[in-house]
Amino acid sequence: MTTLSTTLAKRLEDPRLFRQYAYVNGKWTHGEGGREEAVIDPATGETIGHIPLMEAEQITAAVDAAEVAFVQWRALRVDERCERLLAWYDLIQANREDLATIMTLEQGKPLPDARGEVEYGASFVRWFAEESKRTYGETIPSHIPNASLGTIKEPVGIAAMITPWNFPLAMITRKAAAALAAGCPVIVKPANETPYSALALAELAERAGIPAGIFNVVLGDPAEVSKILCAESRIRALSFTGSTRVGRILIEQSAHTVKRLSLELGGNAPFIVGPDMDPKEAAFAAIDAKFQTAGQDCLAANRILVHESIHDEFVEQFAERMAALTVGNGLQSEIDLGPLIHRQAVEKAAAIVDDAISKGATVMGGDQSQAPGENFFMPVMLTGVTAKMKVWREENFAPVAGITAYSTDDEVIEMANDTEYGLAAYIYTHDIRRIWKLMRALEYGMVSVNSVKMTGPPVPFGGVKQSGLGREGGATGIDEYLETKYYCLGALGSVSGS
Ligand code: NAD
Repeated sequence: MTTLSTTLAKRLEDPRLFRQYAYVNGKWTHGEGGREEAVIDPATGETIGHIPLMEAEQITAAVDAAEVAFVQWRALRVDERCERLLAWYDLIQANREDLATIMTLEQGKPLPDARGEVEYGASFVRWFAEESKRTYGETIPSHIPNASLGTIKEPVGIAAMITPWNFPLAMITRKAAAALAAGCPVIVKPANETPYSALALAELAERAGIPAGIFNVVLGDPAEVSKILCAESRIRALSFTGSTRVGRILIEQSAHTVKRLSLELGGNAPFIVGPDMDPKEAAFAAIDAKFQTAGQDCLAANRILVHESIHDEFVEQFAERMAALTVGNGLQSEIDLGPLIHRQAVEKAAAIVDDAISKGATVMGGDQSQAPGENFFMPVMLTGVTAKMKVWREENFAPVAGITAYSTDDEVIEMANDTEYGLAAYIYTHDIRRIWKLMRALEYGMVSVNSVKMTGPPVPFGGVKQSGLGREGGATGIDEYLETKYYCLGALGSVSGS
């Protein structure tokens, strides 16, 4: 196994946060078959390290360990469970700089954004630690003579989590903290592109006193591992964040064991700008909503729909601001956009731009000869985008902004809903009647009005249509890992005559 890369060794205050093994039952684990995979820094193409690809028996061993550990974890007094999660939160915060460095190296996002993600990810741990104390059941007014009725909440059981590379830390804590708070053990399968954030979280979970077998990280061939996790009847819940394509596979594969499913899938967010908006203000907001994480964000504004009366001025402002964005290695200062995750993502972005141009879109920016490396993609603005183009239909997951003019509210509602996705939508307008009309008509799980920032621990995050099932975060987030048990308590000795 390769030793710590020199870049990382130099940069981490605590090199023990960089682990190149899986973590099962409180132990750092090699792959038994000798298979491994390199993890690449997308900015430089340099190998950061390797991960083992585990064999089927090793995945099953993780389930065995979780099954044993579950007995004690669920029985732990809730305030003790809360304390351990709060200790985990404190450790994540205390190691923020190292976690951000690891994330930037494996994912590519600029260091300030990585620090922001660590904070964001940690905030779910604190939220769910606190929420663990409020998993109340109910008393039900009885319709049965001499009986008391009610419900209690119980942990669903072992929860598996399959997470993506674009938010390597927060997509784990948003799921795992909820499950752990509910009393469930977890088995995380992170994206192979970004395993080291997950493994650093495991190291910190151990230091926080989360017992062996309760937080496990398995690594391997994604399709192989997922198949095993889905087929395993002892795993009662599966939470996945990733593409709709893989989400569909997981639904099929877990049908046989009838699991509780939470799916956070792809998006194709419309960003609607009303005629009353200041074009500059709206353009700057649209830039933020489009280019964060180099566009590799399920909430990224994928279709920017601007009222025809301000379209030209909006486009001018957008182009000017876009031209000022800096593209480079996320470890350097003053970088707005890091690399895309790999070369295929660059090729997909280029194909989407070519498709739009061939169907009549006008292109601005995107001089790829200026890209600072082969995984970088210079931001592009396309105007005159229509529903025939891929940039409209597909989640481009790249710094490619497609802009379309519209004339009426009814038209823009139809445009915005013209997609199989339904994750998030943005509306920019001051007109309260328009806000209500659009907000109610948009077929999306989340609608943000006059704000790019919309997420965080207290809110129910999730989509409708083919963007997923269930909600993460908020009071609903913990329910994904709880069963409601109904009880009917009859009064013995209450039969007539006794
Ligand atoms: P992906 O679906 O390719 O991969 C996600 C996870 O699934 C990874 O762990 C990957 O290793 C695994 N995987 C890949 N192929 C698999 C297979 N055949 N069987 C089982 N598992 C498999 O997605 P990605 O490219 O990592 O992430 C981008 C996607 O994630 C986008 O569509 C984005 O919108 C979505 N996303 C959604 C949210 C949300 O909250 N809704 C958040 C972030 C990302």
